[in-house]
Amino acid sequence: MIRIFDTAQSMVVPLEVGSTVRLYVCGITPYDSTHLGHANTYLTYDVLIRRLEDLGHRVEMVRNITDVDDSILPKARELGIDFLELAEREMTRFAADMDALNMRPAVAEPRATESIPGMIDLISRLQDAGHTYEVDGITYFDVTTAPRFGRLSGYDHTTMVALSAERGGNPADVRQRNELDFILWQPSAADEPSWESPFGDGRPGWHIECSAMSWAQFGETLDVHGGGSDLIFPHHECELAQSEHGYGQSFARHWMHTGMVAYQGTKMSKSLGNLVFVSDLRASHDPAAIRLALLGHHYRDDWEWFDGDIEDGEARLARIRQAIAVHTGPDPTAMLAAVRDALDDDLDAPTARDAIDRFARQTIDGRGDDPRAGDGLAEAAQLLGIAAA
Ligand SMILES: [Zn+2]
Repeated sequence: MIRIFDTAQSMVVPLEVGSTVRLYVCGITPYDSTHLGHANTYLTYDVLIRRLEDLGHRVEMVRNITDVDDSILPKARELGIDFLELAEREMTRFAADMDALNMRPAVAEPRATESIPGMIDLISRLQDAGHTYEVDGITYFDVTTAPRFGRLSGYDHTTMVALSAERGGNPADVRQRNELDFILWQPSAADEPSWESPFGDGRPGWHIECSAMSWAQFGETLDVHGGGSDLIFPHHECELAQSEHGYGQSFARHWMHTGMVAYQGTKMSKSLGNLVFVSDLRASHDPAAIRLALLGHHYRDDWEWFDGDIEDGEARLARIRQAIAVHTGPDPTAMLAAVRDALDDDLDAPTARDAIDRFARQTIDGRGDDPRAGDGLAEAAQLLGIAAA
């Protein structure tokens, strides 16, 4: 049984899932290339998927593409190209990065621009149930109609207001009834895409996109909802409120969030210009070494990337491949059990990685003559998504 830290419960709990696991992970806004923060997040769910598959589950992972929102439109304007052209270009790059990093594929990658009818349907449901109001053509969600709003993050009001202002909300806007209300639908600017809707011509708010896309794919309660920890509030809190009140069902059994990756002393972010791109790293390094470097950190931790980290990843990768080629070594049974135990213990990849490395070193040192060593090591490495050759 896998145990993970559930954000909503604020503790490590057994992952309660059936034979098919429905996993929804918030995807990229395709306006810039994949950086290590993205890679770290998607790698976390990739390792979870691999261990679940190893246990015999079938995992259906859906990862959306936010191809219309408040960040892609200004970027397209700045570049002087259509936002869909920008999205297309970055989606192709993202797919190549995910492929190179040996990520298990999503069963669906819905695009926001192709999911508008579902968003309109959800907003209509919320409107019928009395959760919305309209000012100046903007349709808002009234958070006072969702008594449990805030229970996912557990943040106090002041923190929620501060994070809302920082992450796309506008708590100071006097048109809102409450500081934490958020936009469901809004008029588009003259050069922005616009869709017809019962709430006027316009475009969706950010949060409604994921609620509608996850419902369109699964149509029932998600087993696990994932994303970076910077999405807990407001994005996931708002998704939760909308989905539960709109569809009348529990939204997700488990919430699982990944830590932030810093570089040069601060969180990697577009606005600070301190991004390390996967495409740059893999131009001169084996993508499996990137995986190994990232897996040296627990998924829930915030941590800093140092340029030398990739060399450590390369060295570990070389030892794994060298050891597999040796063919004989120690009995791999205990190592395999240690790797699986570590992953089951809140996805402790650093411990799993170290168990693999210790075994590889022993094999290279000529310890043991068990002919199963190579296969055992390859099997363990595969759990971390590292191919034998
Ligand atoms: Zn999302």
